[in-house]
Amino acid sequence: MQIVGFSTAQVATWIYVPAYRLLLDAGDGAAAHLGADCEDIDTIAITHQHRDHLAGLLEVVSWAAFERVCRILYPAESDHVTAVRQAGPTQGVPCAATARWTAVRAGQRIPLTPAEAGPQLLVLPATHAVRKTSNRALGYAIVDGDRIPLAVTGDSAVVPLDLPARPEVLFCDCTYLSRQDVLEPYAGLGQHGLLDRVLANAAQVGPGHLVLYHLNARYNAVEHAERVRETCRTQNVPFPVTVLWPGAVCRDILAAC
Ligand SMILES: [Zn+2]
Repeated sequence: MQIVGFSTAQVATWIYVPAYRLLLDAGDGAAAHLGADCEDIDTIAITHQHRDHLAGLLEVVSWAAFERVCRILYPAESDHVTAVRQAGPTQGVPCAATARWTAVRAGQRIPLTPAEAGPQLLVLPATHAVRKTSNRALGYAIVDGDRIPLAVTGDSAVVPLDLPARPEVLFCDCTYLSRQDVLEPYAGLGQHGLLDRVLANAAQVGPGHLVLYHLNARYNAVEHAERVRETCRTQNVPFPVTVLWPGAVCRDILAAC
């Protein structure tokens, strides 16, 4: 399955899944890199309203919703999302008014296509606090028949994920690779992911393939790939692990970048 994406903590995160016409988060640069592919997006699912996940939303909507309806899912009570929606018509994106803006909560299942037995997006809880309120952060999982082709945690370490099957691909926030790099406000459990904890938590879920994303901008493949490999070896991680390294768009994440 092709997955296209970019993710640097505090800069921008967006993940595009062409097979499901789904964009997960809409950080800055999504439209610039996806270009006309934005016209194929049916659903944009926002994990939380922090700027690095939201700043590119109007640009994407201006492509995606120009000639047809596209839907934007976002955590209920996300006032920044409401502000972006209201800004659309005054920012040269009048189609923002005709897009379907849908507030969602953990546990809901949203059909991804009009087909009755078609794939759905399952809304997952996340522990990330947004303006001191943790219920404004979500994860998502694609449910396709009895399969889960993809699940994403949003900006939180993996919580016990209540999924109907093992995810074939699991995207986990791994903002930090080393404990000493963790900024004090983010040291608490349930904030951002830390490599050894993320691997241990992901092992409970048992994905077919783990993708680490939302890394801090300080990390790069040249200097830090060995740290990831070594930690995987130490913890006997039984599934393949791919890192979406900061700063570069990857056109095929599962093929490794
Ligand atoms: Zn973020």
